[in-house]
Amino acid sequence: MSDFILAIDQGTTSTRAVVVDRAGEIRASGQLEHRQHLPRAGWVEHDPVEIWDRTREVVARALARADLTHLDIAAVGISNQRETTIVWDRRTGRPVHPAIVWQDVRTQGIVEELTADDDVRATFTHRTGLPLATYFAGPKIRWVLDHVDGARAAAERGGLLFGTLDTWLLWNLTGGPDGGVHLTDVTNASRTLLMNLETLDWDPELAAALGVPLAMLPEIRPSSGAFEAAHRATLLEGVPVTGVLGDQHAATFGQACFAPGEAKNTYGTGNFMLLNTGTTPVRSQHGLLTTLAYQRAGEAPVFALEGSIAVTGSLVQWLRDNLGLIDSASQIEALATSVPDAGGAVVVPAFSGLFAPHWRPDARGAIVGLTRYVTKAHLARAALEATAFQTREVLDAMNADSGVPLVELRVDGGMVVNDLLMQTQADLLGVPVVRPRVTETSALGAAYAAGLAVGYWSNLEELATNWQADRRWEPQIDAEERERRYRRWRKAVTRTLDWIDEDEE
Ligand code: ADP
Repeated sequence: MSDFILAIDQGTTSTRAVVVDRAGEIRASGQLEHRQHLPRAGWVEHDPVEIWDRTREVVARALARADLTHLDIAAVGISNQRETTIVWDRRTGRPVHPAIVWQDVRTQGIVEELTADDDVRATFTHRTGLPLATYFAGPKIRWVLDHVDGARAAAERGGLLFGTLDTWLLWNLTGGPDGGVHLTDVTNASRTLLMNLETLDWDPELAAALGVPLAMLPEIRPSSGAFEAAHRATLLEGVPVTGVLGDQHAATFGQACFAPGEAKNTYGTGNFMLLNTGTTPVRSQHGLLTTLAYQRAGEAPVFALEGSIAVTGSLVQWLRDNLGLIDSASQIEALATSVPDAGGAVVVPAFSGLFAPHWRPDARGAIVGLTRYVTKAHLARAALEATAFQTREVLDAMNADSGVPLVELRVDGGMVVNDLLMQTQADLLGVPVVRPRVTETSALGAAYAAGLAVGYWSNLEELATNWQADRRWEPQIDAEERERRYRRWRKAVTRTLDWIDEDEE
């Protein structure tokens, strides 16, 4: 057996390739950002061809840095930004429209049309575990078919294919127009509003209600098992792809949350907390999503409850790119540390409405509590607190749904290098926050899923022993202060609601 696993982690801001060894250590990696296209307020697009080019480049870099070739790689795993929707021509491989990114709210009209009927809304939520929202892939597919000339007819004839990033990369990796396979995994499929949680297959009635032809949908497979070997025209020629998971599900797997009751929180562009709920789906009463944690080939699926927050790390990018308060994301920590608190300011980054636990598409962002006293340092601090407060809302919902309070939170993602944020998080949750030694958990999870399927690792226990803590933050404020600050946040959230009227975009 070859000595390493290669994971491709295709994220919202960048694409990484990492070489993982048996101990779960990262031996080498390559990473490249791709452009964020923002053609209108609320619209976010990526260029699928640019992402495929970047993917090949980062794979080449990771292999070169580790001084390896495809012969040293036992299997490939893919972890990807979820819900982002690509529709392409089966024959030419060309996308018919830019990728519509998960944060994009252009499908608000489609969602409103469907939610107007209570029965339709209840059916979608019951069968898919998701609220009808712009976030998910289904309405985005419908938008493309409605707006690109000839797309609907071509899709009905089977000439167009739909995929999230996993499917797009897999199709290209396995040959594209030259025999590429059109597949996805259960975790990615669970984010489309089209997959039935009971059958783990596409639901024809939901597809019809959304106006999405079944002919364009990929086949759904378990997350860990055989997909297909990479095509000869790629650097990974002949290496089997045996793991595919949406990035948040991959991070849950990479954090070794294999048992019911185990949870992780990822701090990236947005924040995503997933709690493993075992082999039966748990329905949320508090604004969380029911989703898949993972499925291994030949085994029962494992479900999760998820709290998705649209804007956390991207608020830091906004301070950098739109306001110019900082030159790089990492500078926010020093700026925020230069003041003892947020000076009374609260930032609620409802840029794409509010996701969990509110699901309010009519919300828009607000900065409240402003006085002459407030400086950019206070705003930087308030921006970090916004991440911690939004996480508190989700953790409260998790505790209420599961009935078992979480005793500590495993964290990962690009923002967890920020020690001030981690301390603030422990303070505002009132539970310890634990960062593992390897924080590239989505890449690790994809590698684990791929490696398990080919026997590179023999079982979940072996993977669990790879997990090691790096640092732990204990809460340092008392319950009274915690609740006082949280009350202020909740008041600020109410100020963002009912902002967009029905006749506005
Ligand atoms: P994704 O996988 O969603 O592309 P990452 O996990 O790579 O995201 O995290 C990137 C996010 O982390 C960016 O939004 C960036 O603004 C934020 N970020 C990076 N470094 C820091 C830092 N030191 N403090 C706060 N936020 C940070």
